[in-house]
Amino acid sequence: MSIKANIEQIKAELPTHVTLVVVSKTKPIHQVMEAYDAGCRIFGENKVQELTEKYETMPKDIEWHMIGHLQRNKVKYIAPFVSLIHGVDSEKLLAEIDKQAKKSNRVINCLLQLHIAKEETKFGFDFKEAQTLLESNWKTQYPNVHIEGLMGMATFTDNEGAIRNEFESLGDFYKQHPELSILSMGMSGDYHIAVESGSTMVRIGSTIFGARND
Ligand SMILES: *Cc1c(COP(=O)(O)O)cnc(C)c1O
Repeated sequence: MSIKANIEQIKAELPTHVTLVVVSKTKPIHQVMEAYDAGCRIFGENKVQELTEKYETMPKDIEWHMIGHLQRNKVKYIAPFVSLIHGVDSEKLLAEIDKQAKKSNRVINCLLQLHIAKEETKFGFDFKEAQTLLESNWKTQYPNVHIEGLMGMATFTDNEGAIRNEFESLGDFYKQHPELSILSMGMSGDYHIAVESGSTMVRIGSTIFGARND
């Protein structure tokens, strides 16, 4: 199947309220341009350098999303152009994004990453910490960021029930926050379950481009 056909199939399946983020990490420009030519304008990368290079090379009407773990000392490289940062996993990172956004005279949209997986390695807030931050005066404290929503990744497992439980717990938390408008959850292997659990944004790479070597 071609990249275009894969995209068309995914789009045909997704409910209209769910946004597709095309995850282009590790993929060469000519392949990413095939997705662009198929009509996609939202792309996600998980490394600052690759994100910056692709932003500089590709058409300027693309919305670039940072979907991976973001180190504080690298925020400055993407602050001038990034559209949405999915992986905000600490208040310190939020504060740094605010600082760099101010230098660029921008307000940067952010998602709080929630730790919903059983794995130790996944970054993120727990529900209590996220609740505390959302109830705080973040809007006045960090005027150059806007918390638009939440992001989560399920445990890497074949156990669909476990994945569903994790996504539903995040879906329930999201529903309790009507001030938020984005729930980013679901990747190639689990986006159907994520959408059933309330996702409004899916991040899909390998179903579009084929497997990566990472
Ligand atoms: C790589 C990546 C994806 C996409 O994964 P696929 O399984 O290739 O669809 C989604 N989200 C994040 C945070 C990623 O790093």
